[in-house]
Amino acid sequence: MTDTGSPPIQKLAVIGGGLIGSSVLRAVRDTGAAQSTSVFDASAEVRGRLDEIGCSDQVVDTLSAAVADADLVILAVPVGAFASLAGPLAEALRPGTILSDVGSVKSSVFEMLAPACQENVHLIPAHPVAGTEKSGPDAGFGSLFQGRWCILTPPDNADPSAVDRLAAFWRALGSDVEIMSAQHHDLVLAITSHVPHLIAYNIVGTASDLEKVTNSEVIKYSAGGFRDFTRIAASDPVMWRDVFLHNREAVLEMLGRFSEDLTALQRAIRYGDGDGLETLFTRTRAIRRQIIDAGQDSAEADFGRAGRGEEEGEGEDFP
Ligand code: NAP
Repeated sequence: MTDTGSPPIQKLAVIGGGLIGSSVLRAVRDTGAAQSTSVFDASAEVRGRLDEIGCSDQVVDTLSAAVADADLVILAVPVGAFASLAGPLAEALRPGTILSDVGSVKSSVFEMLAPACQENVHLIPAHPVAGTEKSGPDAGFGSLFQGRWCILTPPDNADPSAVDRLAAFWRALGSDVEIMSAQHHDLVLAITSHVPHLIAYNIVGTASDLEKVTNSEVIKYSAGGFRDFTRIAASDPVMWRDVFLHNREAVLEMLGRFSEDLTALQRAIRYGDGDGLETLFTRTRAIRRQIIDAGQDSAEADFGRAGRGEEEGEGEDFP
């Protein structure tokens, strides 16, 4: 809510009604952060489901119908689909609209959406650092953004009042808002999210390729650590394909560092450097403590996920 008690946004249009798009709509319904909402999804099946769930005032069949009269448009589709939306958006957006998104990569958004920004349209990319490994409208829940960071990456020449309104919107959904450059965002998220996902995809792929370990043994003994990687490696293939294709430089930079450190660990094991291993593992345990102290995860066994329902944020992680 703004200082005057009115919602920060009059009409919100969401493009893409999957996990994140439907969670935004549910959170708006719960908090009143926008006076009215409309949603468009390319899939007729998803539109039908959104209708049944009832999380938006309107579920419409075209992008132009969704964004008509909207003062905030949020793209909640895979990043690779942004470029194809620029043309239709350019024709449909009215002057003064804030065009934003929830994509996990930020630098490439400017290039892809610049053609959409005619006549005083304010492009202010955003990334709610909250999510799960699930997809689709049924996976969404209204509390997803509560206590989570939402990073805004406005361009240098952004209109401050438009940035303020978008920040007020995300705060109304329960998020803490941080502002940084798109380049910085991509570097930070490469190491905190993108490389960890790549490692999970890789380790699960390697295990499934091993000839000596049968599939049933991989699954039977998965609680030894493998299981937690499989949750991350179950994340949406299209979304993550796009993340790596659109954050190539930062991911390669971080992977280079990761490979060097992995080689150092390999040497420590080969040469029996127990002190070196213990020193690192002690340092990493302290990082885990800091994450819990910062309220970004639970200290409970199984990360507090066992037996918790979706509405409570089962399997949350932060792409
Ligand atoms: P999702 O559950 O798969 O939902 C995406 C929806 O967009 C799908 O229903 C999809 O339909 C639809 N869609 C695809 N292309 C479209 C187009 N051109 N026009 C309209 N609708 C279209 O994905 P998500 O997890 O919500 O991710 C959406 C965005 O959020 C991504 O950019 C991702 O990087 C970002 N994000 C995700 C997470 C996370 O944890 N998942 C967290 C933070 C940010 P089809 O299924 O028919 O293709």
